Amino acid sequence: MAKKWVYKFSEGRASDRNLLGGKGCNLAEMTYLGMPIPQGFTISTEACTDYYDQKESISQEIQDQIMENLAWLEEFNGKKFGDPSDPLLVSVRSGARASMPGMMDTILNLGLNDVAVEGFAAKTGNPRFAYDSYRRFIQMYSDVVMEVPKSYFEKIIDEVKDKKGIKFDTEMDVDDLKELVSRFKATYKEAMNGQEFPQDAKEQLMGAVKAVFRSWNNPRAIVYRRMNDIPGSWGTAVNVQTMVFGNKGETSGTGVAFTRNPSTGEKGIFGEYLLNAQGEDVVAGVRTPQPISTLEQAMPEVYKEFMEIAQKLENHFHDMQDMEFTIEEKKLYFLQTRNGKRTAPAAIKIACDLVDEGQISEEEAVLRIEAKSLDQLLHPTFDADSLKAGEVIGSALPASPGAAAGKVVFTAEDAKAAGVGGGGERVILVRLETSPEDIEGMHAAQGILTVRGGMTSHAAVVARGMGECCVSGCGDINMDEENKKFTLAGKEFHEGDYISIDGTTGNIYDGQIATVDAKIAGEFGRIMAWADEFRRLKVRTNADTPADAKKARELGAEGIGLCRTEHMFFEEDRIAAFREMICSDTVEEREAALEKILPYQQNDFKQLYEALEGCPVTIRFLDPPLHEFVPTTEDEIKKLADAKGKSVDEIKAIINSLHEFNPMMGHRGCRLAVTYPEIAKMQTKAVIRAALEVQKAHSDWNVKPEIMIPLVCEVKELKYVKQVVVETADAEIAAAGAKLDYEVGTMIEIPRAALTADEIAKEADFFCFGTNDLTQMTFGFSRDDAGKFLNAYYDTKIFENDPFAKLDQTGVGKLMEMSLKLGKPVNPSLHVGICGEHGGDPSSVEFCHKIGLDYVSCSPFRVPVARLAAAQAAIAEKAAKKCDKCGSDSKSFVDDETKAKLEDAAKKAEEIAKELAEQSAEVAKAGLEGLKAGVDAAVKAYKEARNK
Ligand code: ADP
Ligand code: MG
Ligand code: MG
Repeated sequence: MAKKWVYKFSEGRASDRNLLGGKGCNLAEMTYLGMPIPQGFTISTEACTDYYDQKESISQEIQDQIMENLAWLEEFNGKKFGDPSDPLLVSVRSGARASMPGMMDTILNLGLNDVAVEGFAAKTGNPRFAYDSYRRFIQMYSDVVMEVPKSYFEKIIDEVKDKKGIKFDTEMDVDDLKELVSRFKATYKEAMNGQEFPQDAKEQLMGAVKAVFRSWNNPRAIVYRRMNDIPGSWGTAVNVQTMVFGNKGETSGTGVAFTRNPSTGEKGIFGEYLLNAQGEDVVAGVRTPQPISTLEQAMPEVYKEFMEIAQKLENHFHDMQDMEFTIEEKKLYFLQTRNGKRTAPAAIKIACDLVDEGQISEEEAVLRIEAKSLDQLLHPTFDADSLKAGEVIGSALPASPGAAAGKVVFTAEDAKAAGVGGGGERVILVRLETSPEDIEGMHAAQGILTVRGGMTSHAAVVARGMGECCVSGCGDINMDEENKKFTLAGKEFHEGDYISIDGTTGNIYDGQIATVDAKIAGEFGRIMAWADEFRRLKVRTNADTPADAKKARELGAEGIGLCRTEHMFFEEDRIAAFREMICSDTVEEREAALEKILPYQQNDFKQLYEALEGCPVTIRFLDPPLHEFVPTTEDEIKKLADAKGKSVDEIKAIINSLHEFNPMMGHRGCRLAVTYPEIAKMQTKAVIRAALEVQKAHSDWNVKPEIMIPLVCEVKELKYVKQVVVETADAEIAAAGAKLDYEVGTMIEIPRAALTADEIAKEADFFCFGTNDLTQMTFGFSRDDAGKFLNAYYDTKIFENDPFAKLDQTGVGKLMEMSLKLGKPVNPSLHVGICGEHGGDPSSVEFCHKIGLDYVSCSPFRVPVARLAAAQAAIAEKAAKKCDKCGSDSKSFVDDETKAKLEDAAKKAEEIAKELAEQSAEVAKAGLEGLKAGVDAAVKAYKEARNK
């Protein structure tokens, strides 16, 4: 039987998300619930994948199934597609598994042509409406399917309106719209090299379906996927749906609404609508929509039905719903529902409220919060005093909470160039309105301010998704985008001028207002407490200073996983001594210089131990190449020369000699300790003395130093450095007449270390994956230079993600797994963590949970993210196990004991084979036979076990 590629709404359910996409499966679910849904069908995501497999063409089989379903839809509606007297019109809508609002394309009013529009006008008795629908269709089809720029059409609309001196689209009469249609068609023809606008409805439909498939790979969708961890392999479904019309006059309209406030989480309908409007009008921000509450007076019956269905949907999905609806001559239709995107504060409030309302469990509540979004809660608000002094120059809609101050920029490109990821400046993107092309620039800005658009405008929705502050719809701004300036409150602002915006109040301020960081409290604290209950992974922080350590403790860190000691060498009073050390000729000279640094370093460590109150602190010994510490200015070189009693030229010669071609693979990490053991000695003294001091002052704490040796690739290397550490530490402890436990472990950040982890584990008390270096060395490209070519890798789809941001589970992950598998059996008390940037990335945290790490360590502000992600991984694992158990009859017929025996048998066979193989080539053959026999025996045992 042929594969099924197309499903009627009545044939699916919410559980078919992977196949039908989010929009399609929920349209199916709402149909199942008997709600007023314009009927239609969904072309599956598999058809999209097939389209790409077939070199971007739709197979005959799929085309046939689309036509069969179209025939059904015609019959269902009692209208014919392309009928000149009463045409069936449809929308063609994208819809992927994960909601990607505004990223892909939708076409409305498909099926109209020059003849059908007349029939449509006659049938509806509303020519204005018919021509309005037709001109919209030509516009969208041209843009989406044929990629004729939108601006061509907008320009014509403006000309027609200007000529008549009118402001709104709704003021255009039927003749204006007819003019639009003919001019649009001419524009189309010109742009398409003489090709006429397609008049055949079926051709229109296939063109639109293809365009939606294509839109899966448009640049903004690709960027959105990368930002949201959505795999490129998923594909989008296409929904073909009977049109209903919100543009039929003042008893028609269209809108979007949420069952709870997506900014604050407050319970209650929240939304807006426009009368006599269609589709995009509400979101595009062309006219400013009305709040949903006014619908109660305008159309009480419709309002009542709307409220009932909205509530039903929320109760059904047990989550806040984001709904799209259209009213056609007082008849209400729902066009979409989904679990609404929300800000992090709203997500927290809604999850807690749903638990209190008995709708979801605590575990579900924890799963409901997107770990990455917690960043937002830790985002700044305005400093109260600084705010009081601030001058409010305007206010508009509080579209996405948070506070931001920065320099004004007028284009997304400028924001990208100057902002995060570019020049690193704080910028506020000020625009008439934003469109999906702006997404990267929006990301790079601290905040977004728009002149047009409501709470559900593109800018608002996208900003909320990004956790970025946004104030929208400030009509008081007199904007001159072309000349990069605007006026507000009588003042002219240019590119580079400072403003501040508050996405929680909607206020706009002149100048820069200081911001302050947020705290974990209230409902946020409640969610985090639940998360802590469910997680197994511990969460530590990467911190080098007591201030960072304290912040991280406040945010829930359970220790320090990485303290980089080199940062401590750069400080004013120590760098001189350190440079003297570098330029020394003898061990004694070096020791003398290091002796000067020792008290500083000891004090640093003491403060860290105090900040951590007995929680573990891992201190990594000096890591970077010495060249990074040498002086660069003539002045400094002279100073150093004087201090060492050497000539300037001599110092310069030393500096030159330290130069390396590949410093990242150079004289650094434990290699420094091998060449200059006195550095490791000094650092050990500092660690142990600090620990002894703090332990003595706080007998109730368990101060147990963890000394970490970086960049180890060979066990003998670790053994050598460890011996230096142990001798020094034991002498210090003995001299103090005290008792102190300490550990010596290593970073696993060179592939060879992972490959020989069973050897290294013999000497290490712990492993910590330095996944920045491990990624760099595994891929063989430098993290400092990869940015220059990685874009080409995304464009050509060789990579979907930056491996330095998202852990490469396939390669780097395999090395990690291997290290655990090799290391743990050799040293059962070995504890293992990760301290690269990846430690705070949710999907990487999940991976670390899965392979059995003990802890992750990340920067202080990522600690809550990691705590939540760790809990989510544990909950998901539990759920998966439960699932396995239900299916146990069919799957797990081998019990643990049998499995162990099998593994044992296989291992023995392997050992015998190896032994034999080692004797001679001749005997090796026999060895292989032995192995084969062993495997056969294992297979036999396995079969027996299964039959039991
Ligand atoms: P997006 O995924 O960008 O929200 P949609 O497919 O939901 O795109 O379409 C956008 C809007 O177009 C909808 O909110 C709705 O107002 C309008 N629309 C889509 N399909 C129909 C339809 N069958 N009848 C009337 N309006 C429609
Ligand atoms: Mg939609
Ligand atoms: Mg490293």
